[in-house]
Amino acid sequence: MNSASLREAVIDISAISANVELISDLTETDHFLAVVKADGYGHGAAVAARAAMEGGADWLGVIDGNEAAELRAAGIEAPILTWLHSPFEDFATHAELGLDVGVSSIDELNRAAAAGVSNVQIKVDTGLSRNGVVEPEWDSMFELAASLQSSGGPRIRGIFSHLANAGVEADSIQLAAFERASGTASAHGIEPELLHLAATAGAIGFPASRFNLVRVGIGCYGLSPFSGVPSAELGLKPAMQLRTSVVSVRRVPSGSGVSYGHRYRTDRETSLALIPLGYVDGLPRSASNRAKVWINEEKFKVSGTIAMDQLVVDVGDSTVRTGDQAVIFGDPLEGYPSADDWADAAETINYEIVARVGSRVQRRLRES
Ligand SMILES: *Cc1c(COP(=O)(O)O)cnc(C)c1O
Repeated sequence: MNSASLREAVIDISAISANVELISDLTETDHFLAVVKADGYGHGAAVAARAAMEGGADWLGVIDGNEAAELRAAGIEAPILTWLHSPFEDFATHAELGLDVGVSSIDELNRAAAAGVSNVQIKVDTGLSRNGVVEPEWDSMFELAASLQSSGGPRIRGIFSHLANAGVEADSIQLAAFERASGTASAHGIEPELLHLAATAGAIGFPASRFNLVRVGIGCYGLSPFSGVPSAELGLKPAMQLRTSVVSVRRVPSGSGVSYGHRYRTDRETSLALIPLGYVDGLPRSASNRAKVWINEEKFKVSGTIAMDQLVVDVGDSTVRTGDQAVIFGDPLEGYPSADDWADAAETINYEIVARVGSRVQRRLRES
């Protein structure tokens, strides 16, 4: 590794395709929307989109026109749905790029119509309490949508909502609300081509939420949406391996304080290896003294505070040399710490571990 590629996220594109194939074989829905927002959860949006389509995805989802424009600029022509817009968004980009606008309010629908957008999908809030049209406004929303649709305005291609994953009972309450929303639409003569509620957790664990499209993010990247259920148990393969090289190794006496605040102190003469990745590269500082790093078939605990650019591991008397490869996380079946291990160490979720891998880390593609 030269300095240009000292920090690498190796992306296994075949794993992404295989994960999509596995989940769509399970859901058997007519459509599969791969969620590639946030630069494909850190894997690279266009790379993830192509790999997902290779695995059978026929739709892509991102939050807004900017993320979608990046996919179009990369030559991707698949249908794209967006769902989180600036209050100042005029939807001109959406119209020009042929994007489906997910609208969460009457105001957004009016702006999309004024911009000449061809297809909208109406997002309804069924209990997540984020965006989406709230139930008291469903009637007026669908009335407006029906009238725009019948007068040459945007076609209502879909109705969708998002689950809170707050347990079987809460999910079922949301499902019932979603059915009321589509009933209200139907009463206004709107029979959309697409109905969708499930993200990865629903797609895998809540079959009644599948309808005819599933919006799958984390599962595409081979990570489990369920805490305590590892990827392998679901047949998924983690697609990202974060790695670097040891930049120095030094022998230190017992009692040496390590990194900011001396939150680690050696209890014997030992060797310390310096790893050039820190919190700006996405490693959570809260995993200091907890998470593990793989070097030469062994896993070593992070010793002391994770800094902005670097961390230290106490490697004891193991033979670790400057230039040896260090894997922060990867596929646990290959012996590496997993994104889940890092998430546990930082008391967060695997989504955050991969999605926050920073821009200094070069993405490198691998086909397994
Ligand atoms: C991010 C997101 C998804 C994907 O969720 P996963 O849990 O990663 O599958 C699906 N739908 C919406 C609306 C989202 O914001």
